[in-house]
Amino acid sequence: MTQCQQQTTTAAAAGDSFKFSDLRITNTQDPQPQRAWQELRFGHHFTDHMFIAEHCVEEGWGQPEIRPMGFISLHPAAQVLHYGMCCFEGMKAYAGADGRGRLFRPARNMERLRRSMQRLLLADFEPDELLQCLKALLRIDRPWQPEAPGYSMYALLRVDRPWLPEAPSYSMYVRPMAFSSTGSLGITAPSRTTLMILLSPAGPYFGTGLRPVQLFVDEVNVRAWPGGAGDQKIGSNYAPTITPLVDAFQRHGAAQVVCTLPQGPDPDAALFSESGGMNIMFFMDKASGGGQELVTAPLDGTILPGITRASILELARGWGDFDVSERPISIREVQQAVREGRLREVFGCGTACMVQPVDRLLRESGEAFDTPFDAEDPNTLTARLTRTLGDIQYGRVAHEWSVPFE
Ligand SMILES: *Cc1c(COP(=O)(O)O)cnc(C)c1O
Repeated sequence: MTQCQQQTTTAAAAGDSFKFSDLRITNTQDPQPQRAWQELRFGHHFTDHMFIAEHCVEEGWGQPEIRPMGFISLHPAAQVLHYGMCCFEGMKAYAGADGRGRLFRPARNMERLRRSMQRLLLADFEPDELLQCLKALLRIDRPWQPEAPGYSMYALLRVDRPWLPEAPSYSMYVRPMAFSSTGSLGITAPSRTTLMILLSPAGPYFGTGLRPVQLFVDEVNVRAWPGGAGDQKIGSNYAPTITPLVDAFQRHGAAQVVCTLPQGPDPDAALFSESGGMNIMFFMDKASGGGQELVTAPLDGTILPGITRASILELARGWGDFDVSERPISIREVQQAVREGRLREVFGCGTACMVQPVDRLLRESGEAFDTPFDAEDPNTLTARLTRTLGDIQYGRVAHEWSVPFE
């Protein structure tokens, strides 16, 4: 049996991309019972349908398909199972204040997925075709009731299978993913690509509200390095980070690890890079006196180019209330800012958690950098960014970053 004959979809005309217009939709015969949105645990629940498209070098893309959510079958030699040849994206769909479902800057995720796939020599595709397929999937798994009265969490009770929770801070997590399904043990260029999208209704990532978390500063394990692939959302960047994460949780009760990049023998010279699935930002009074500065690590190839990161930088630059810098920031610089009482706020940012305040950075030595965070204070930068991004994402203000899908 050739690789191509293993395809579960029928091959469409070979081309550069699958086409939205070829999308085949098979509805589930077995819809899941309604689940109370309060019970949602991040990434544990999936909707009734998923998107899948498969490519093989001989025939190009097969017909893209939306089909009931369920298992897929893989050749046991599939490269993804041996060499981690996979990548993913993380996006969210929001129930808009006007009743329409919305995505946030989705074209950027499509482009980033394409870049990750290129890094792994997986098949190429037309980003807008995938985006249209995603919108179709969202429309199927989020029945919209235009007559649902208003924007209320209770509207949920009135809609049929309301996969997209209509409650503040709730959303539909969208997981595009691609991998090599090439059934070959060779460490070679893949000849088969599988591209999928899963939908997972989600509540707030780290529990409700702006509750600050503690991060453990990892000065031993290095997530990404110059010349590596740390700027791609590829699986191999994530698998090795779980051990340090579990260790930080068990030994220090830390919610996450913040990674550093050593700069020679002086441990304090190490640079802050980022955290598991979020970029890290520091907001401080400038040492020179005049004004404040928002600092985050530059996109030097060791940092994932977060869309939340980019959006925050664009918003903050637009406000013009303080300096906004993408530059290296060392442990020593943060240490000094803390000693001089200049470190105001530390927060992580990413699609899953949005803006996550951090009130303590803990080092192995026991040294801690504290930034007490007042969740009730509406004037923190964290609160301002959360409000501004939320207003855009939930369509409470008109903004080009928010893209309706229905
Ligand atoms: C996905 C991710 C981010 C955040 O990116 P967003 O586009 O803002 O969601 C940050 N760091 C890492 C390592 C990531 O994987």
